[in-house]
Amino acid sequence: MKTIHKVLEKYDSKVYKNRKEHMVEVGNNDNNNEIAANVRTIPGIITQRGCCYAGCKGVVLGPIKDAFLITHGPIGCAFYSWGTRRHKARKEEGEDNYLQYCFSTDLQESDIVFGGEKKLKQSIQEAVDLFHPSTIFICSTCPVGLIGDDIHAVAKWAEKEYGIKCIAFSCEGYKGVSQSAGHHIANNQLIRYVIGEGDREIKNKFSVNLLGEYNIGGDGWETERLLKRIGYEVVSTFTGGSSIEDLKNAHKANLSLVQCHRSINYIAEMIETKYGIPWMKVNFIGVDATMKTLRDIAKYFGDPELIARTEAVISEELLQIAEYMEYYRGKLKGKTAAIYVGGSRAHHYQALLKDLGVHTILAGYEFAHREDYEGREVLPFIKMDADNKNIESITVEPDIEKYHLYLSEEDLNRLREEKLIDYYEGMVKDMENGTFMVDDLNHYETEELLKALKPDIFFSGIKDKFVAQKSGILSRQLHSYDYSGPYCCFRGAINFARDVAMGIYTPAWSYVKAPWKTAPILEGTLGGEAVC
Ligand code: SF4
Repeated sequence: MKTIHKVLEKYDSKVYKNRKEHMVEVGNNDNNNEIAANVRTIPGIITQRGCCYAGCKGVVLGPIKDAFLITHGPIGCAFYSWGTRRHKARKEEGEDNYLQYCFSTDLQESDIVFGGEKKLKQSIQEAVDLFHPSTIFICSTCPVGLIGDDIHAVAKWAEKEYGIKCIAFSCEGYKGVSQSAGHHIANNQLIRYVIGEGDREIKNKFSVNLLGEYNIGGDGWETERLLKRIGYEVVSTFTGGSSIEDLKNAHKANLSLVQCHRSINYIAEMIETKYGIPWMKVNFIGVDATMKTLRDIAKYFGDPELIARTEAVISEELLQIAEYMEYYRGKLKGKTAAIYVGGSRAHHYQALLKDLGVHTILAGYEFAHREDYEGREVLPFIKMDADNKNIESITVEPDIEKYHLYLSEEDLNRLREEKLIDYYEGMVKDMENGTFMVDDLNHYETEELLKALKPDIFFSGIKDKFVAQKSGILSRQLHSYDYSGPYCCFRGAINFARDVAMGIYTPAWSYVKAPWKTAPILEGTLGGEAVC
């Protein structure tokens, strides 16, 4: 508690009280590791969070390769969400791939005054004339919400006018408290207007959806390669590298695998209610975690041949990486790490770091909810506030024609009791006592905690990476993997270990001295006299 108090003591009492609830020293508190999360950042604090539009467009919708996504707003929102997440996609024969493009209505002051719907219609017409897309997404930004453009009416008009699919997402940046609201809005529209429309024939009974996998640095491709080797068919991936057609067929799988719980749990639950497909929380980051995940999936399907094939593939993949893992473990054992990322990776990467002998001493999330930290058992105790109530929560009913069960209700209930399906245990249970769990870490706290804990490496995002490096601590981005990847499954673990070892054994950052530490960088005069 001393470390937390030292970081927070500079705040006034109101801010101190607020931020204290977002910081937990694991196992050393009177609150059973309870943490405050998914609430507003205090105005004035420099948070690392992004906006609702970033969560909707940047995270969930952005990776869909053939959806023509128009950002309706001033150019800045689109420009700064263009090509930053490294979600990759391959263009197959006859498919479109718009991922390299950035489309915006580029609203100007006069559009804000007189309304932007006309310009949006004009943009859709241009898109149809030039690119002939089969699906257009419209994402709204803050000013559009404030002036009240009816993007849903424009979407309906476009469907009628051009005979295409056009879906509007009211994901104005100010909604909710972080990117998380945008994930929810994207999930709602995809279940409403996309999932369930496909009629692809799925012959393989070992069929899965891969949810919350955005193919950053090729993670989705590597996961798919591994699953296919064992004998699974990946019906759809939400949403890394997927086409709209893939997503339309998600209702045909026999199990949904949830990698990023935070961004996609809404779809996972709604697919189960509507189509009968249960979901399983998985983790393909880390060697031990991948083995456990593969065995859990095989257990769900319960087929002896599939179980044997799973073990055979695990042995072969392990053999391929054993020598490298040994080498990198020798290099990294005993090092310490801090991780501050979005809403799931701070948990996933602790598993891989553990494989390499690296101890995680601090972990936190930008936009997680309490259940991501503490497990889904806390869901009934989470109080809804006005910000959460503003985000539409939709309910779905079973689809009589498309509802199907792979296992009997009895077997499903048994697996639920074993917590194999429909459950996420959260991050804190995998953290050791005395380590720190922090929600919505800000710039000031990042600097102070890094000074106090002195980790060998800080895994974070673009906004905080350079703060760490300038203070002499190696930092790698876990949102976009800098320029590397894949980091998942067996082979990816070696890529990750190589990148971390390279960074740690190239200690350039420890030689950096901030300029203000050697000479004053501000100049000024007071009453005509130089003061610094
Ligand atoms: S907060 Fe609003 S203005 Fe800023 S990027 Fe998000 S949508 Fe655009």
